Amino acid sequence: MKAAILTVFPDLVRPFFTHAMVRIACERGAIEPIVIDIREFATDRYRSVDDYPYGGGPGMVMTPGPLSGAIQHALAVLGGPAPVVLMSPQGECLEQRHVLALAAEPRLVLVCGRYKGVDERIIERYVSEELSLGDYVLSGGELAALVVLECVTRHLEGVLGDPESAASDSFATGLLEGPLYTRPEEFEGMRVPEVLLSGNHARIAEWRQAESLRRTRERRPDLLAKQVGEGGQEARRVRTRSKEEA
Ligand code: SAH
Repeated sequence: MKAAILTVFPDLVRPFFTHAMVRIACERGAIEPIVIDIREFATDRYRSVDDYPYGGGPGMVMTPGPLSGAIQHALAVLGGPAPVVLMSPQGECLEQRHVLALAAEPRLVLVCGRYKGVDERIIERYVSEELSLGDYVLSGGELAALVVLECVTRHLEGVLGDPESAASDSFATGLLEGPLYTRPEEFEGMRVPEVLLSGNHARIAEWRQAESLRRTRERRPDLLAKQVGEGGQEARRVRTRSKEEA
């Protein structure tokens, strides 16, 4: 995947690709990040990218000219059509389904807003989707864009050592993952659950599934309700079981 990130703080974004899993993804050619400095597309001598809002009021608004130039440049560099995603608190809240959809794209443009946000005409003309990290306001879209890219990168071919790992993560099956343990067997008086030491793979799988359901029921009953909506078997089983318990 070729991913263009449009920002007025390129130096904030670049180091992200030089560490950990994302660095490996870059080295393996699974993802090619292209960081584009919006300021390069400013046309005045001050290289300004923001201006006062029409109608007055506090704060500055990102001017459409440099953004339009940067988006068109990004699409040209990517060499083909790509979704243009604006990071915005007004977008849909990022969920695994967005991540999987984006991971299936060969090209991607992520636009990071700053100040009060971007001129609405940029959204009208160029933006295919707005994505939010949650119901709070960041000072800029950079961290949000990097969150999207980190999530997406995990699902690109050849990135995770064992692709099964993502399949057991939270949200992959619509549930949370259960508790995890590693050595030592006893730590500060607490023992690893015996079943995990049993070597009985069927029992272990059953235990993990039960823990995953229990955790989801305790912490995120909304996820189970969603599965019912989508016709999920697990959710119905859990509902029946909790009725039996009651
Ligand atoms: N005035 C805007 C907020 C602007 S914050 C409003 O009230 O809706 C400046 C920039 O930070 C935004 O353009 C966006 O790119 C980014 N941003 C802020 N909060 C975000 C969030 N929750 N998710 C994703 N991006 C966010």
